Amino acid sequence: MSHSIITNYHCHSRFDDGHGELEEYVQAALKKNLRTLGFAGHAPVPFACGWTIPSPLLPEYLQTARRLQNDYRDKIEILVGLEVDYIPEIISPVSVQIRALKLDFTVGSVHFIGRLADGTLWTPDGPVEELEQGLAESYGGDARKAVEEYFHRMTALVGTAPPDVIGHFDVVKKNNRGGKYFSEDAPWYRKAVDKTLDALAASPCILEINTGGIVRGTSGALYPSEWILAGCLKRQIPVMINSDAHRPAQLDGYYSEAAAILKDIGFRELTQIGREGRRRVPLV
Ligand SMILES: [Zn+2]
Ligand SMILES: [Zn+2]
Repeated sequence: MSHSIITNYHCHSRFDDGHGELEEYVQAALKKNLRTLGFAGHAPVPFACGWTIPSPLLPEYLQTARRLQNDYRDKIEILVGLEVDYIPEIISPVSVQIRALKLDFTVGSVHFIGRLADGTLWTPDGPVEELEQGLAESYGGDARKAVEEYFHRMTALVGTAPPDVIGHFDVVKKNNRGGKYFSEDAPWYRKAVDKTLDALAASPCILEINTGGIVRGTSGALYPSEWILAGCLKRQIPVMINSDAHRPAQLDGYYSEAAAILKDIGFRELTQIGREGRRRVPLV
């Protein structure tokens, strides 16, 4: 892949649930010849959570990222962002606290889709035990209801609180290997996805092709699935490739394969975010 098209706007670090210092990601990005590196640590949430940046560490994260952006400005384009959760009434990429940070970009993701009986928020992309408990306690064991709520929230995210980049569009399938909980062929699933894609097409968001499920060996699948990517092409939704790196070595994981898949589907260009704004580059 040519230098001009390798970028990554979705990487974590030791500040959240990733490994390694931010500077190690910069060094890996230089070695891998990335054009742009965007930091997207999990934004703090106002409740106990083991994988987001703890609020007291946020200033250090932002200061370190800005220092690196400046120190390396002649070598690589660095953007400072956060992966922000969308939880109605609690946090969103356009909430006052997030806007006040004056980030270069945001990745918006839906992780939380309900509360356990004790009020704890839970995510379908965590350990399978958490999913099982969440389904039982929030949705009476009905996976379809949970998945429909996931896409309902994704639709609200793009429609009412649009981030620059939509994170792992269908991560709700993470624990669904072998169709254990639902089939992506089910008419209700296709309908939920199509409705969300229609909202996405009407929004300013860029959709990421997230290779993290393959790179980290979790779901073993791309987010989103290829049939959904075909729906994106039909609607002319702009796309980019990100790896959701949790280690510096993962920065360009599965990129060539993802680019080949996009080309096979019919995509001819990628959309990137630069310090001066968006740009479109040919997918070659
Ligand atoms: Zn995420
Ligand atoms: Zn992430």
